[in-house]
Amino acid sequence: MIYRFIRSIAAVEKSSVIDMSKRDYYEVLGVAKDASERDIKKAYKRLAMKYHPDRTAGDKELETKFKEVKEAYEILTDDQKRQMYDQYGHAAFEQGGGGGHGGFGGGQGDFGDIFGDVFGDIFGGGGGGRRQSRQQRGADLRYNMDLSLEEAVRGKEVEIKVPTWVSCSPCDGSGAKPGSKPKTCTTCHGAGQVQMRQGFFAVQQSCPTCQGTGQIISDPCNSCHGQGRVEKTKTLSVKIPAGVDTGDRIRLSGEGEAGAHGAPAGDLYVQVSVREHPIFVREANNLYCEVPIGFTTAALGGEIEVPTLDGRAKLKIPAESQTGKMFRMRGKGVKSVRSGAVGDLICKVVIETPVNLNERQRELLEELELSMGKDGSKNRPKEKGFFDGVKKFFDDLTK
Ligand SMILES: [Zn+2]
Ligand SMILES: [Zn+2]
Repeated sequence: MIYRFIRSIAAVEKSSVIDMSKRDYYEVLGVAKDASERDIKKAYKRLAMKYHPDRTAGDKELETKFKEVKEAYEILTDDQKRQMYDQYGHAAFEQGGGGGHGGFGGGQGDFGDIFGDVFGDIFGGGGGGRRQSRQQRGADLRYNMDLSLEEAVRGKEVEIKVPTWVSCSPCDGSGAKPGSKPKTCTTCHGAGQVQMRQGFFAVQQSCPTCQGTGQIISDPCNSCHGQGRVEKTKTLSVKIPAGVDTGDRIRLSGEGEAGAHGAPAGDLYVQVSVREHPIFVREANNLYCEVPIGFTTAALGGEIEVPTLDGRAKLKIPAESQTGKMFRMRGKGVKSVRSGAVGDLICKVVIETPVNLNERQRELLEELELSMGKDGSKNRPKEKGFFDGVKKFFDDLTK
């Protein structure tokens, strides 16, 4: 297994997190990007009927679907939110959201942050920095994990070492020397924000005196020098659920960097990528493999052994099987990490032309060929049909 570690300052995009994969809102409702409000309402009504908890009692997957639909509807029928979504995608509602997922628990605050950023950009920030939130949440971390196909299919518990910031224990994350207390900032009176006038606009900005924390530490803690957090390598045990695939992320809530001055920690995202397998190719929950077979088996039929992830399995080859024929072995694929549905193993048989023939074998084949008659049309109807077609094609061309 190869681990690579990436620390990201900006929040990691959260499009494909296992616990809550976010689909495009328009896609969720099945409407076009330029759909009218009426169309959106209509689509919502239809889907809400289908997935409403009253009707789908207890079905977790449908419940999630309902939430997804509701969320999409709420965003797309609010002009302002829809505009934000069109411009920034899901990121529009995830800035500084703490928990981030699961709808709009954060409510107004989320939009406030976005607008703060937008205005900050436009007006250049005016020296106060663009730190809007009073408590600066710790950075999210991303951890790249390479898995073999077998590991991804079966799941695995892995210990990873993560260099990160953790809350300082002597001061309990406050940054103030044990026994002392941070004082309320006199510039912003503890609000962490100050109002600045920029042209016609009054812009909320992070307080320059206390950097938005609302507090001043006059007697800093010796261990963390007033930061409230210290750098440390921590070991985490990560449970990779069975069935993950490349592009999946596993979110470990609160396992990212600790925030400064006791602010909440960020999240840790384990980004899965599955290495190429020498035999199997995975597509959604199905596995594909190519199995070479001899042409005698293909012609006469027989039983062959094929590989599966749990060992060998027998596969019956009917007589007169052609090359490229696919055989489906039900339930021998991958169990979906999201729905629990199990995919199939699809074996494609490829006929191997015999090589290294000796004199005798050559004779036998020639004899066989002779026995099939001059054009072999009885034994190779496809070939005959094909060349008849080709002939007709050229005849038509020269007409
Ligand atoms: Zn400390
Ligand atoms: Zn202040």
